[in-house]
Amino acid sequence: MIAVANAALALCVRCGITVVASQDWHPQEHGSFAVNAGRPVNTLGTLDGLAQIWWPIHCVQNTAGADFHPELNREGLTAIFRKGEQRHIDSYSTFFDNGRRAQTALDGWLRARQIDRLTVMGLATDYCVKYSVLDALHLGYATEVITEGCRGVNLQPEDSAAAPNG
Ligand SMILES: [Zn+2]
Repeated sequence: MIAVANAALALCVRCGITVVASQDWHPQEHGSFAVNAGRPVNTLGTLDGLAQIWWPIHCVQNTAGADFHPELNREGLTAIFRKGEQRHIDSYSTFFDNGRRAQTALDGWLRARQIDRLTVMGLATDYCVKYSVLDALHLGYATEVITEGCRGVNLQPEDSAAAPNG
């Protein structure tokens, strides 16, 4: 998928198309981590009133796990929007946290630039890509997905294939 991303980035740079990235950016003590919840990885529980999958530790702030892939050409990125920084709530979408209690700066940033069409790719098809796309559509953006540039978690084998069905 890095090859797909770099090809898309190069095309966008040539054509003057704005490219932004989102970055899962969790504190070490994030409530979605199974180890912090004391629960088995990839099981379902509740975090601050919301259904929550207990994830392995991932994307901890200022660690290699949160960084972009070393082969991703970042020079074409205009801006990076971080999410998942609040300890007590997870944030799959790059627009809102999972409870829609807060939003990132992305929607305002796009609107300030009169950007109303989005093309999305990345990780993971069945979580962050899915919920970002659903929010983008809800917010009124014409949205398409480069599916060959996405990969899923697939806790259930068909999750990624079912993602377009919401
Ligand atoms: Zn995360």
